[in-house]
Amino acid sequence: MTAKTSLGIGPEEMASRSALGIDTEELASCVSCGLCLPHCPTFRVTGEEWASPRGRISAMRQVQDHGMAVDESFLASMDSCVQCRGCEPACPSGVPFGSMMEATQAELARRRRVDWRRWGFRVLGHRWLLNQLSRSLAVVQRLRLVPSKRLGLPKIPLVQERLRATGNDVWLFTGCVMDAWQRSTHASAKRVVEAAGAGVALPGPGAACCGALSLHAGLEDHAHALAARTMKALEGSVPILVDSAGCGAVLKEYGKHLGTPEAVAFSERVMDVHEWLAAQADQLPSVGERGQDVTVAIHDPCHLRHVQRAHQSVADVLSRYATVVTLDDEGLCCGAGGAYAAMQPELAASIRDRKLEAINRSGADIVASANPGCTIHLANAGVDVRHPLEIVDEAIDYDG
Ligand code: SF4
Ligand code: SF4
Repeated sequence: MTAKTSLGIGPEEMASRSALGIDTEELASCVSCGLCLPHCPTFRVTGEEWASPRGRISAMRQVQDHGMAVDESFLASMDSCVQCRGCEPACPSGVPFGSMMEATQAELARRRRVDWRRWGFRVLGHRWLLNQLSRSLAVVQRLRLVPSKRLGLPKIPLVQERLRATGNDVWLFTGCVMDAWQRSTHASAKRVVEAAGAGVALPGPGAACCGALSLHAGLEDHAHALAARTMKALEGSVPILVDSAGCGAVLKEYGKHLGTPEAVAFSERVMDVHEWLAAQADQLPSVGERGQDVTVAIHDPCHLRHVQRAHQSVADVLSRYATVVTLDDEGLCCGAGGAYAAMQPELAASIRDRKLEAINRSGADIVASANPGCTIHLANAGVDVRHPLEIVDEAIDYDG
């Protein structure tokens, strides 16, 4: 009897299904120059070609163009990718690695007989259920019945602040896990946006999840269903502000993923909240006594720097309220990568070690990161890390 692969099907069946569904031109656009290698976190920590963008593209070609079987080494190469897209801006040929990896993951997800993520991620689209489960998890954490650090979990609050809408000038996208586990960050972002003069609308349960985690896991149908619900819940024409870089990146790419005029128009309304605040610089309130004393190192989330390419706006806003220093690691990933830290804990920790060295070299008091996954991952290594707008919220002189 032949052993089954980790997809749950035998090698013969695996070999009989070779096409990955990647756009042929996209796949051919890599010229194997290797200029992306130093920007790839998994190549930096392993030194292995199979863990580099070039090696992954070569493996995709072998499967798609030359009928190579999807075997364990192929799966290891694909599943070890953080999907940080650090290779994209580094590539002189403009290879769209992210969409090639998404197509590959979608095909692998179709072949998987059993995938806990297919069921686990469904919870994310149901706000009430996610909040109930999060409350239960918070209790279990207090009883020390769950190894939170080993599982990469933050300390989940027992009670959540209630957010109230204050107008209709902008939407604030609140999402799933961040709303259930880190709602105080939304509260800070909301106060800062309001201090800049805008009334904030909050979406109902229809916009419970942007679909980012499902998309990265290759669960395209689920991601597209969540996208359709989110678009319906955030109707109108006002800007949609996002304080999670990972969610913002996906919301900005709905147009690309769904290919409809409605999705394109929706994506054009999406802004990272720092982009919007930087454009309202004249309206931003002044700094209170507690600002400027603190030195903050900015860790750019990959989905803000490499995908949205909007990371400068964080420094533009934060530098009005604190002394800002930049890390000297050219924006390398921290290893969080959505669910990556849970799926690939050893690689995620090795990648994070490089980030910790850069943070130590910076001499900063605290670290700012505009993505919930990064803050959780870095905090689990003992870093004092906060969302930039939590720092701004604390530094603002609201009475001044
Ligand atoms: S992805 Fe781009 S940078 Fe990397 S090897 Fe291919 S062409 Fe060169
Ligand atoms: S997406 Fe990130 S981890 Fe994956 S190949 Fe590109 S740089 Fe490497």
